[in-house]
Amino acid sequence: MATYKRAETTKANEPLKMVSGEIPVPPPGSVRVKLAFSGVCHSDVHIISDWFHLGEEKFRGWVMGHEISGYIDEVGTEVDLSAMGLQKGDPVMVYPWVACQNCDTCRMGYSNICPNLAGHSNDIGCSPVAPGGYQTHLVTKPQYLLKVPASMSMDVACMIPCSVGTSYSSLRKLTDAIEFQQKRGKARLLVVGSGGLGLWGIQLAKVMFGGEKIHVVAADVEQSKLDTAKKFGADETVLWDIAGDLESNVQKTTQNGKMHAAVDFACLGSSTNTALKCLEMNGAIVLVGLSQSELEVNTFEVVINQTTIKGNRVCTFDELKTVANLVAQHKLTYPALQYHPLEEVYEVICMLKERKINGRAIIKH
Ligand SMILES: [Zn+2]
Ligand SMILES: [Zn+2]
Repeated sequence: MATYKRAETTKANEPLKMVSGEIPVPPPGSVRVKLAFSGVCHSDVHIISDWFHLGEEKFRGWVMGHEISGYIDEVGTEVDLSAMGLQKGDPVMVYPWVACQNCDTCRMGYSNICPNLAGHSNDIGCSPVAPGGYQTHLVTKPQYLLKVPASMSMDVACMIPCSVGTSYSSLRKLTDAIEFQQKRGKARLLVVGSGGLGLWGIQLAKVMFGGEKIHVVAADVEQSKLDTAKKFGADETVLWDIAGDLESNVQKTTQNGKMHAAVDFACLGSSTNTALKCLEMNGAIVLVGLSQSELEVNTFEVVINQTTIKGNRVCTFDELKTVANLVAQHKLTYPALQYHPLEEVYEVICMLKERKINGRAIIKH
């Protein structure tokens, strides 16, 4: 007989508690998804430390996990799945960035930048109001589900709404600068950080901007990561010296020419400053990494060089649809997936925190 289990939060930075019980029944307007895989994300390292300042009482007893794939196994009343192109039994990924769904920004389809997110989150797996993927069954709204394309495996599918969607949305913001350069030749794109987001970014850049028309330079402070970046399509790699001066890192990066666009998945202040100095006139940079660092920007240079500086927060639901198709069509994938049972999720989060996960760790339900 099928059973239901979930890994509940207890206190900030303390182990999750396994709880079992009745399989939840979806209320009117909702569906139930039997989970296949849940990705463990670096954001979980922050969330478990009570990143959203929920306080001890609110922090207890909810379910984290925002990278989710599974199968629709029960449909509540008042749900017309066919209107959404779905049916019972379909393989789906869950769009977690749902926010308030009650403001103009959300209604326009930009729930990723909902103004009501400030200081807390309604996103799936990120707050008590929207339990996430560290459970065997998830009750949610069908509007947040996207059918997994036939050629995509369910373990890859769970990563699409977070890391892959974020990479895609970030690169999209560089389109003007890249296409401007491509009118006269090959564009040079700097990808800073060759971790999870970076490897997807390298592959997606080739697909989005035409493999032959884009030269991808991957920068990182670890040679092993650059070796992987090369395998995933980087045309050139550059090892940044973390203790070195900015000028010498810029020099190394631009020895074959300046960059027309850059995406900074690290955002350590120094990484953004270095990337900015590598940009050609009319260049663009997008900041993605979540850190609290200061940026030194010479306003004269930004004006004279006509530089664009943008930020990016995850992705919209429309962008998720597009990137899911791109990944399926081009059979993009990820190296070194490692699988763990739900019972080990807290240990996996700790391993991520200690940087002991090489590749991606995924809960297999
Ligand atoms: Zn994530
Ligand atoms: Zn909203």
